[in-house]
Order: sequence, then structure tokens, then C-alpha cells
Amino acid sequence: MFWKKGKKFLSSFASRLTLKYSLLFAIILILVYFVSDCLLSAGLLKEVDEHMAEEASEIAYLYEFRDLNHVRDEIVMEILEDGPKEVFFRFLPANGGEVIHSPLEHWAGFDFDKLIPLGPPRGQSRFIFIPEGSSEAKTIRVILKKLNDGSLIQIGTSLSEYYALKWRIRKIFWVSVILLMVAGTILGWLNSHQAMKGVRRVTRTALSISKGDFHKRVDLGNEGDEIEELGKVFNEMIAKIQNLVCEMKDVTNSIAHDLRSPITRMRGIAETTRIGREDIQEYRLMAEMVVEECDRLESMISTLLEIAQADAGLNSGAFQSIDIAQTVKSGCELFEPMMEDKGIAFRLSLPERPVMLKTDNSRIQRVIANLLDNAIKFTCEKGTISLGLSDHPNYIEIRIQDTGIGIDKKDIGRIFEPFYRADQSRTSVGNGLGLSLVKSMVHSLNGEISVQSTLGEGSTFTVILRKDPSAPGAA
Ligand code: ADP
Repeated sequence: MFWKKGKKFLSSFASRLTLKYSLLFAIILILVYFVSDCLLSAGLLKEVDEHMAEEASEIAYLYEFRDLNHVRDEIVMEILEDGPKEVFFRFLPANGGEVIHSPLEHWAGFDFDKLIPLGPPRGQSRFIFIPEGSSEAKTIRVILKKLNDGSLIQIGTSLSEYYALKWRIRKIFWVSVILLMVAGTILGWLNSHQAMKGVRRVTRTALSISKGDFHKRVDLGNEGDEIEELGKVFNEMIAKIQNLVCEMKDVTNSIAHDLRSPITRMRGIAETTRIGREDIQEYRLMAEMVVEECDRLESMISTLLEIAQADAGLNSGAFQSIDIAQTVKSGCELFEPMMEDKGIAFRLSLPERPVMLKTDNSRIQRVIANLLDNAIKFTCEKGTISLGLSDHPNYIEIRIQDTGIGIDKKDIGRIFEPFYRADQSRTSVGNGLGLSLVKSMVHSLNGEISVQSTLGEGSTFTVILRKDPSAPGAA
């Protein structure tokens, strides 16, 4: 049970983050400790050494410029100040005369003679450590100063106080480190737990959505930009998915509806023929009608497949460098007879020089054909259709304008949806897939399509094809 809880705790991101930071914090504190301990020890020892060096210089001065009595007095003074337990002074004259020293009862076990061979050359000083006993607190720091005439000054200081101070500082440091670590870990955990609140909200929302509640959205808190951004992006993603699901439902309904009508029609024709009189002419007529319906169905299914392919980014052919003005021109030529039949005036405006673009020729042809077909379909007799192509530094613009029936404001946002047909166009032939196919194909060619229209006056469809395929929005 405890093991499981511990494992769960350790697997949480907030706990791992806290542990990582605590570890880092501990490493930094330990490094700081070692550096400051070294600096402190060196500083304290330097102070001890400087003090002893000063005292040795003073004794040397008194010996050289006064007499031995002054040396004796100085030693007495220093002992009164520092205490005979903590320091000792010895002055060994060069002539082998009487050794002047401080009271040495407290230094009974100390072998002063072992210091003599350690003395430095004349006119110099030397510091040494003399370990006494097992504990380092009993170590003695000694300065040996040899005067120019060979006299030797020995001053020793017990380092017990120095070590006691060091231990006190170490103790304070470690207690502070432990307190800081505990406080840092608790605060760190609370902080990361708080920061993860937003992520937990996203998880909860995702859970609700996975159970079917598509209307659920993440509440945006104030845990910071990253979490807010995550919540926003998540909400946008869910909104898009919801739209997509709705669109898919609409498309499925439309497909079901559009499939049912021809099938019902075919069944009706077959039924009528079955119960009608046996006449080969009748059968032929029925067969023709069935073939027509099948063609319509086949065309609808292949258009749906083409839309799916274009949306999935599958290219029907390889991208080639083509003269797009030429493609547009030959596309228009196919529709000119239809326009003539309907008495529609056609104006084509193309640049004189070739307009080269690396693109999929067959898709461009399909786009032009669909837009021209619609323009002819929705333009009354004696109307006008204009097609213009202009070459810009970053993009190519194709504009197809008609003086047809126009599109109502309420429909304009929906005409690119599969199977959508505006009310006023329901009497004309079509299945509402043409513009969906155009939109998918233009997108697959890294382009954009837009429409401007006024009901009763006409419509303008504008296709933008970017020249640099890696620059969305370049146009
Ligand atoms: P279809 O032409 O088969 O109905 P589309 O997808 O090509 O389907 O067009 C969808 C709808 O957009 C049309 O039914 C029509 O209402 C509207 N539309 C398209 N092009 C034009 C146009 N040039 N003028 C007026 N309405 C248009």
C-alpha cells in the first residue's frame, strides 16, 4: 500500500520536478558550504598567523633595540592578555644564555626541543602545525623566527578555539541547510502542484470529452502563459473537432440523402417497367434511365473521392513548371461554345508573356472548369463572364466574375461546404460538390479561394496561388 502510494507520488510530474530542484538546491548548497568553509578556515588561520607574526616581530625588535628585560616584560604582558593555557612564548638567545619563556605548566607534555631543528634560516620565520593527541582540536600552531644573530623565538597557540569556532559555524550551516531544504522542498512541491493545476484541468476536460460531452471546455486559469496557451489551443482544437464532427454528420446525411434519391428513382423505374407491358422499347428506355442515374452516382462518388484525396494531401500528378496562362486559356476554349449558346459575352484578360508556376496542371484545369461551369450555369442569357489572370511578385491571381444571379449573404459562408446549394439554385443541375472540390484542390496547391457576391448582380471568385509553396499566407 505504502509502496504503491510512494510510486504514484514519484510518477507525478510535480513531485519529480520538486525532487529534481531539491537535489539541485542541495548540490548548490553543499558546494557553497565547501567553498565558504575553505575560505573561512584559511581566513581564520591567517588571522592566527598574523597575530603570532606581529608578536614575534615585537619581541625581535625589543631584543635587537632594547634588552632581554624588555623581552621578558613583553612576554609577561602577552601572557596576561592571552592566558598561559592558550599560548606559549620562548626566547632562546644565540649565546646559549638563559631561555626566557612564559609559564609552561599547561604545556607539560609538549616536547619543546623538537622545535629546535625545525627552525628556519637566520632572518626568516616559519609556521608549522604540531598535532598533539588524537583530536585535531589539540593541534598547535607554532611560529619559529630566527633572528640575524641566531637567537630563536618560538610562539605557539593552541588551535582549540579556532576549531571550536569552525565547528560552531559548520553546525549553524548544516542546521540552516536542512531547514532550507525542507522549506524549499515543501514550497517547491506546492508551487509545481499549483502550476500543474491547469494541466489537470485539461486532463479532466479531455476525460469528459472522451465520454461524449463535446461541449465541455477548459477553464482558463492564471497559472502562467504556457498553461493558458495549452488551455486555449486545447479549446480551439476541440471546437475544430466538434465542427468537423458536425460537418461529417451533415456530409453523411447528405450522402445518404443523395444516394437514396437515385436509388429510389432506379427502383421506381424498374418497378414500373416490371409491372408494365412487355415491350423492348420500354426496357431500353428503362435501361437508359438507369445508366443515367448510375453515371450521376458514379460522378458524385468520384468527386467525393477526389475531395478526400486533395484534403489528404495526395497529389493526382507531379508538380511541374507550367505556363498557367496557357492552361487557363485552353480551359476557357472548352467552355466558349456553351457561352455562345447561352448568348453570354466572355472577356478574357491574360498577361502577354508566359506566367510560369510549379503546380499540378490537371488540378488547375479542374478548378477553372468548375468555376466557369458555375458561372455559365448561374448567369442568365445576355450576361457577361470575365476571367482575368494577374502575375504578382509572390502570387498569381485568377478572377472569374459573372453578372449572374449572385449569392445571398446567408449562403455565402456555406457554399464551399459539401452538398450545400443555395435556395435559388436548387432548380439547376448539380450536386453541391463542385465548390468543395475546388476549395480542396486550391488548398492542395497551397492557395486560397474567396468569393464576393451581391444577390441579383453577380459573383466574383478569386483564386490565389502562392509561388513559394513553403510560405503560407505569402499572398
Ligand atoms: P452545384 O453547382 O453543383 O450546385 P457547387 O458546389 O458548384 O454546386 O456550388 C454550390 C452552390 O454555390 C451552388 O448551388 C450555388 O448556389 C452557389 N454558386 C456557386 N457558383 C455560383 C455563381 N457563380 N453564382 C451564383 N451562385 C453560385
